Amino acid sequence: MKSKISYFAGLDIGGTTVKAILVDSQGQQAGTLVEVRSLVKDGYAATFGQLEVAIEQLAAGACVERGAIAGIGLDVPAPSSDGVIWGRANLGDDWVGTDIRGLLSARLGVPVYMTNDGNAAAVGEYALRKDHSSSLMLVAPGTGLGGGLVLPGGRCYEGVNGMALEVGHVSVPFREDDGSLPTCSCGLTGCSEAWVSLVALRRRLGLELAKPEWAAHPLNQTAASIEEKAFRLREFAQDGDELAVSIFRRQGFILGYLIADLVRVFDPGLVIIGGGLAETSFRDLYMTWIEEGFADRAWSVYRFSPLDPEQVTTRFEWATGGDAAAAIGMAYAACELFQ
Ligand SMILES: [Zn+2]
Repeated sequence: MKSKISYFAGLDIGGTTVKAILVDSQGQQAGTLVEVRSLVKDGYAATFGQLEVAIEQLAAGACVERGAIAGIGLDVPAPSSDGVIWGRANLGDDWVGTDIRGLLSARLGVPVYMTNDGNAAAVGEYALRKDHSSSLMLVAPGTGLGGGLVLPGGRCYEGVNGMALEVGHVSVPFREDDGSLPTCSCGLTGCSEAWVSLVALRRRLGLELAKPEWAAHPLNQTAASIEEKAFRLREFAQDGDELAVSIFRRQGFILGYLIADLVRVFDPGLVIIGGGLAETSFRDLYMTWIEEGFADRAWSVYRFSPLDPEQVTTRFEWATGGDAAAAIGMAYAACELFQ
């Protein structure tokens, strides 16, 4: 048993699984990624039990005593401030307004850092890169549209209330064909998330499939649910299907347009595109659509240096951490904060 060294655990609470990673005091991963079932809908007490299971598995997998784990980084799929969740998101009701960080810290007997999943993934992408000289901004289209900003040195910019980088609820000046604004999951209209997310994709696909020009489209010849059709849309885009490409192209353009305004605020140097699109075979094409939207809105100095037109000022990269990025980020953050 290697118990003299301190270890730090990163725990990522998702809707279906809890992902967990252990690092040593050098930030090197110890053992492998652990996944256990998430019980978020059953409340925080049930979830804490699952976190303990994950921690036991982490310790066993790395051949270390559980007592060697000196700190925890935890991310939750909801806005939070100072360890308290503000919005319900996909969690059970008892999470909101509860001192999750304090309760978990007391239960485990170690300090806990807590943030939202967008911030956690941004820190993970930062940790996975060797170059730590510039800040890094993550935008991650998934079920919603999350984001995070990591400053040089590795600290996540969370704002005074932990509410910074809610990029999915920044408004963008786009309208539906009939001139209306789409309603966002947050209740507002015109949010970027209402255009760039899985939820938005389903709505857009439903609207398009109702048009006469797509009556003969294969997705109109099946009784599958809109969720299933939206899921299959990626395959269609990979095969160059006109409808699928047009939908993703518009989504990518709006994402790029949003990024241009975010870059105007934060000037991060490196923009990481996360979410499931990073794993698709048409991602290169999708990136060109993001860049189209970015070029449409960003001043040229945000694209190329005025001194050297060959020098790119805002770089775009795909996320590399996959769905382990948030757990990696939380292990990294705990290691930085608690050793
Ligand atoms: Zn919104």
